Amino acid sequence: MIMKYAKDGLVVDEVKELAKIEETSYKKILRRIADGRIVVARNVARKDLSKIKLVGIGYGLRTKVNANIGTSMLVNDLDMEKRKLEVAIQNETDTVMDLSTGGDIDAIRRELISLSTVPFGTVPIYQAYIEAAEKKKSPIFMTEDDILSVIEKHLKDGVDFMTIHAGIRYEHIMKLKYIQRIAGIVSRGGAILAAWMYYNKAENPLYKNYDYILEMFQEYDAVISLGDALRPGAIVDAHDYFQVAELVTIAELVHRSRKANVQTMVEGPGHVPLNEVIMDIKLQKRITKGAPYYVLGPIVTDISTPYDHISAAIGAALAAAAGADFLCYLTPSEHLSLPNEEQVKLGVIATRIAAHAGDIVKYGWKAKKNDLEVAIARARQDWNKIIELAIEPKLAKAIHEQFGPQPDKGCTMCGPLCVYILLEELLKESKGSE
Ligand code: SF4
Repeated sequence: MIMKYAKDGLVVDEVKELAKIEETSYKKILRRIADGRIVVARNVARKDLSKIKLVGIGYGLRTKVNANIGTSMLVNDLDMEKRKLEVAIQNETDTVMDLSTGGDIDAIRRELISLSTVPFGTVPIYQAYIEAAEKKKSPIFMTEDDILSVIEKHLKDGVDFMTIHAGIRYEHIMKLKYIQRIAGIVSRGGAILAAWMYYNKAENPLYKNYDYILEMFQEYDAVISLGDALRPGAIVDAHDYFQVAELVTIAELVHRSRKANVQTMVEGPGHVPLNEVIMDIKLQKRITKGAPYYVLGPIVTDISTPYDHISAAIGAALAAAAGADFLCYLTPSEHLSLPNEEQVKLGVIATRIAAHAGDIVKYGWKAKKNDLEVAIARARQDWNKIIELAIEPKLAKAIHEQFGPQPDKGCTMCGPLCVYILLEELLKESKGSE
């Protein structure tokens, strides 16, 4: 197990490789894996592991980006999901998660994972719920074994990281009766488990069996991503009793994971107004002693539909600058529909910009190299370089040339009034008149 090796001071090849990729020292990476501040998203059972992008997530590393794909019960088109996977990887997502809930979920997962060259995540409670609904007539008859066996199946298939909603507890659900919340439970996994606990009057099976789950993850050395089942689904609910109570339980589980040498990260925080984003990151980091933080958004307004990828990127940039390590994208289809390929692309790009903006603050010059090169290229009016370094060069070139051929200097925006030409001309004139 990589965490155990790190605790014992053993430097495995992945640690050396990560140090090269991240331009940092292997000693720093080793120490942070040992104390749980960095995770390496990979499952030792993943086929062709050496061909999968090596992705470290956590303190001192570049902020990473995840794209969610997968079928729904109403739109089940594996070919489209394969194209979405391709688009997400082409646009440089660091990881993907398959959230499929429609069709043959096992076959879809196995097909997508076989095509993915980046770490691959899942949310196994979805499949346990669907199978119980199909085989037992209602998901409330789902047993603990049903849930645990789906987790084991995903681990055997080589899933590198998995959302485990172990932080939502029976006592939290009981309090929903008298502590008001506007948006209720907006996490699918959270809603499934809340309904199950309410009906069965029993503790969350993922919390109850957490030691067993740790044993399973030890075997595959995969990463647990503790799901935020009680995340706020409206900015007015941000940092209410439920979100914070779940985070306290999650922190307890992080400490149990570390004792068992299981790499673990924490998910959060949903809809959060801008003035609470930094506080949220600091709270998570403090209470978990620096566990990698995987943020969904955070989305900073409830009215940005169908531009929730922009709202989320605003929150994500601030979150990343404050210390969030891993950003889950939102797409323009958030709150509206399953995304299509184009929406996946827009989500990945918006989130990559947010990650980079955060890294400029967190890592200074290490992250700013390309920004400086673009600034110099702009000053020199070197359009080839400006376009080459753009986040989406093809689109940048197409827009630059949308009204026909461009002059060597400036563009169709200001023409001869281009600041780069004006200044040069005025300086020349003033020198001539001296
Ligand atoms: S013409 Fe205007 S927009 Fe275009 S490069 Fe010059 S200053 Fe920038």
